[in-house]
Amino acid sequence: MRQRVIPLLAPMTKQRPEPGRFCRTSSRGLAVLNSPLLNKGTAFTAEERKALGLTGFLPPGISTILDQVTRAYFQYERLPDPLSKNIYLTALHDRNEVLFYRLFSEHLNEMIPIVNDLTVGLAMEKYHHESRRPRGLYLSIDHINSIEEAFANLGAGPGDIDLILATDAEQILGLGDWGVGGIEAPIGKLAIYTAAGGIDPRRAIPVMLDVGTNRESLLADPMYIGNRHPRIRGEPYDAFIEAYVRVATDLFPHAILQWEDFAPGNGRRILEKYRGRVSIFNDNMQGTGAITLAAAISAVRACGTPLRNQRIVIFGAGAAGIGIADQLHDAIVREGLSPADAARRFWCVDRLGLLHDGMSGDLHDYQVTYARPAAECASWKRGAAGIGLAEVVHRVKPTMLIGASTVAGSFTEAIVKDMASHAARPIIFALCNPPARAAANPADLIAWTGGRALIATGGAFAPVTHNGVTYVIGQINNAMLYPGLALGAIVSRARTISEAMVAAAASAVSSLVTVRQPGASLLPLVDDLRSVAVTVAVAVAEAAYAEGLARVKFRDIVQQVRDAMWQPEYCCILPC
Ligand code: NAD
Repeated sequence: MRQRVIPLLAPMTKQRPEPGRFCRTSSRGLAVLNSPLLNKGTAFTAEERKALGLTGFLPPGISTILDQVTRAYFQYERLPDPLSKNIYLTALHDRNEVLFYRLFSEHLNEMIPIVNDLTVGLAMEKYHHESRRPRGLYLSIDHINSIEEAFANLGAGPGDIDLILATDAEQILGLGDWGVGGIEAPIGKLAIYTAAGGIDPRRAIPVMLDVGTNRESLLADPMYIGNRHPRIRGEPYDAFIEAYVRVATDLFPHAILQWEDFAPGNGRRILEKYRGRVSIFNDNMQGTGAITLAAAISAVRACGTPLRNQRIVIFGAGAAGIGIADQLHDAIVREGLSPADAARRFWCVDRLGLLHDGMSGDLHDYQVTYARPAAECASWKRGAAGIGLAEVVHRVKPTMLIGASTVAGSFTEAIVKDMASHAARPIIFALCNPPARAAANPADLIAWTGGRALIATGGAFAPVTHNGVTYVIGQINNAMLYPGLALGAIVSRARTISEAMVAAAASAVSSLVTVRQPGASLLPLVDDLRSVAVTVAVAVAEAAYAEGLARVKFRDIVQQVRDAMWQPEYCCILPC
């Protein structure tokens, strides 16, 4: 079913605070300037300066937020490298939240990789060597009884929090285990939730679940400021997670609990244990899976072969690879296949080669569903690392090839040409990020398949022109999905986040592209994230309503979604 397409939001520059939009504070003077949620810098009016005790603390000129954004962007642009830019934006975030979000919202495509993704990895590496303003909540497995006290210290009431994003930092993208510095991952992600999805930053909390670290270099570093012991596992780990979920849901019954950068085993176990009971979402698994499903829906529309008839090879059966398999599998079940028959549409290849049930001791529990019968591949060619990708592609003749392994250049010319000799429109998704680590370069994929491949990539690639057609390469970017998914769940006050809501988000993203045009992108442009988020949120809220999970009534769902979006606009600050 096609989703309703919501036109672009009115540009934020035209939005003004409604009359009477003001807030009061008992703070005065430097305390106001030092509060990132109150601080407007040179945008404080003459009246506010007088009333809040700011006279003499600011230069006399009064700026608009547009002046400030221009100035901030000028400073940002002058910085020499991504890490300096990340540090600049972090400092702005700590100084003036509204200005930070205004700047970020207006330059989403450019700044997402700086605020989150890979640059945040660089920032994390330096985390315990640099003094920063603390942000978020630090919960320690060694002080399990302090969880409630830590949440209570926020001073928030039961209806005040919409989203809590927690990490145990075991598998930070591109870095692996990064201990307490992993808090930067949820901080960066929440910033995208706000900038792209209008999630109110005052109603969202990043949480570090510190269970220790197995990274020797951190344990040996005298400057390390997290729990200085190996990761605690098993029953104490589960008890810690249980205590966190219980306290968070008791105190904030409407909040979504999002899980970020857990190792796939823990991530999946937690998702399965709590889903249906509380509102819970794992972006590494469900988000990556759903945005890839969105690209797959577009590709299937372009090639005309339904998902249930695709033969899908996934290279890299980790958090992303299996999360993608799960979303595609569920979509195939919705097309009418049984769960067992749907699982037979997949061939997953990992470090030990093709996953099959003859290697049961080596399979992770989250991979078992996709293990092929050993008999099927008994005669297939094996190398030192089992049945490799080239052999699998040769035997399976896939129509869809998905790379989520971190191995650069794994989709070789021979493999792609073998696939293209059987598939009229080979669907090839190379998720690995950054672009230098991609399984293949889109220009090569287009050349090797004579322009027939339907491509999407994890990183950003420039359009490719081949035989007079310009191919726009869709970016499989989760930020297209999770802000709208959360917004829709928040607006509908959904009891849980169901698979139907996640699937509705994927369909909504795909509905925004027209695939008939030769070379058209399979996904919307990252520049359009704010309007994508509105479309996704409406679809998600409608799905929640259809399933009886919504706890509010809808009068005008589009307007309700728009009204719920926090806008980076200053309010008038009055003393109390
Ligand atoms: P992960 O570590 O959980 O999974 C990677 C998997 O690849 C593991 O199971 C690993 O064993 C396997 N692998 C490694 N080397 C291999 C080899 N030589 N042959 C076969 N398999 C091999 O990591 P993840 O979180 O699943 O991320 C995987 C990749 O997907 C990363 O490159 C990441 O950048 C990308 N990713 C992209 C997006 C996106 O674009 N939206 C989202 C998530 C992940």
